[in-house]
Amino acid sequence: MPASPLWHPYAQMQTQPTPPMVTGGSGAHFTLAGGERLLDATCSWWCMIHGYGHPRLVAAIQQQANTLCHVMLGGLTHEPAQRLAEALVRITPPGLDHVFFSDSGSVGMEVAMKMAVQYQVLRGRPEKHRMLSLMRAYHGDTSGCMAVCDPEEGMHSLFAGFLPRHPFAPAPSAPYDAPREAVDADIQALRATLEAHHHEVAALLMEPLLQAAGGLNMTSPHYLRAARELCDEFDVLLVFDEVATGFGRTGRMFAADHAGVTPDIMVLSKGLTGGYLGHAATLATGRVYDAFLGDDPNHAFMHGPTFMGNPLACRVALESLAVFEEEDYLGKIAELNAILRRELLDDAALNAHPAVNEVRVLGATAVIEVEEAASLDGVQAFARERGVWLRPFGRWLYTMPAYITTPEEMRRITAAMKGWFEAR
Ligand SMILES: *Cc1c(COP(=O)(O)O)cnc(C)c1O
Repeated sequence: MPASPLWHPYAQMQTQPTPPMVTGGSGAHFTLAGGERLLDATCSWWCMIHGYGHPRLVAAIQQQANTLCHVMLGGLTHEPAQRLAEALVRITPPGLDHVFFSDSGSVGMEVAMKMAVQYQVLRGRPEKHRMLSLMRAYHGDTSGCMAVCDPEEGMHSLFAGFLPRHPFAPAPSAPYDAPREAVDADIQALRATLEAHHHEVAALLMEPLLQAAGGLNMTSPHYLRAARELCDEFDVLLVFDEVATGFGRTGRMFAADHAGVTPDIMVLSKGLTGGYLGHAATLATGRVYDAFLGDDPNHAFMHGPTFMGNPLACRVALESLAVFEEEDYLGKIAELNAILRRELLDDAALNAHPAVNEVRVLGATAVIEVEEAASLDGVQAFARERGVWLRPFGRWLYTMPAYITTPEEMRRITAAMKGWFEAR
């Protein structure tokens, strides 16, 4: 058979084995051609929070498709986009009162960065046109986003010559439950970077509490509160990239909620539609939005993706949120968290294993960080034999399950993760 013309992401096409063909799914499982059923430990890059084939989400898309599949937001409006904007303002931290839609997490972050830069231009500070990002950050794969990903460990160092240069602060290293004093060093490092660069910086960007694709690095709510204070002190906007952390992943609806902090701009995507369609939202406070009001045509926000506010995506996002709230997903996430803590964090043998550097758990996220990436060679096949689909990267074997994962399924996932180390 000739090779498929389909080009896969982050894959060496010369050596990648033919990927398994997925034909369907229900709950936390997907099904392969041939009938194999696999329990998805990472819910398709963390977005399928209701699992596969959820009847209410499927019906929402079908109903909307009968009414209106798409219309542009340029000069027009429609009910699903308006209702979703209102719902997002209701559930996000107080003060985020304006919503700009786009089609993916990366574009949502591009929108955030353009918004921050144009905001500074409109208030007469055009020299503040760089971003301040954190080491170990991941904000997406488009050019603007690559430039604010970790420049060394990130996956974009190949493109260094092509990208604009931005300042970076060290990645925070104090854990989630660290007392305030233990976070001081991280905060002082952020302060020092702001002192050196604030005159040229439009916004500080961060994945609050959980730097996800950069290695599931977790930090303390004290760091978020300090970031808010430092941004005010240095006249820099604060942007929270909650593309991965939003919609419950850290145990609260948003990571910002752990700290009681309102960023100036917040970006949502992955869980927004329950993973059923690609979409993103960039929310802004009145302070940001008001800077764009005026008679001058240059005051219009200069962005507008074709598919922004797509009615199918907005309608399924509304249904996703309704299910999330009606079925107490935060309660389900707390149950998953208790299992992850008991089975991984409290497992003395796992923590003492010579290959293991650290085990971390936050909300419905757990990672086993190993000393050497090579010690994870073969773990995916090992888990698949046990009916579990894991996709480790670098030195990180992790799970970010769908929230409808049952306790028994969650333990099957942790057993596969631990089993790999018990076997060697
Ligand atoms: C996945 C991710 C993005 C990019 O989202 P895409 O929809 O893949 O473009 C941006 N930021 C964070 C924190 C992410 O996890």
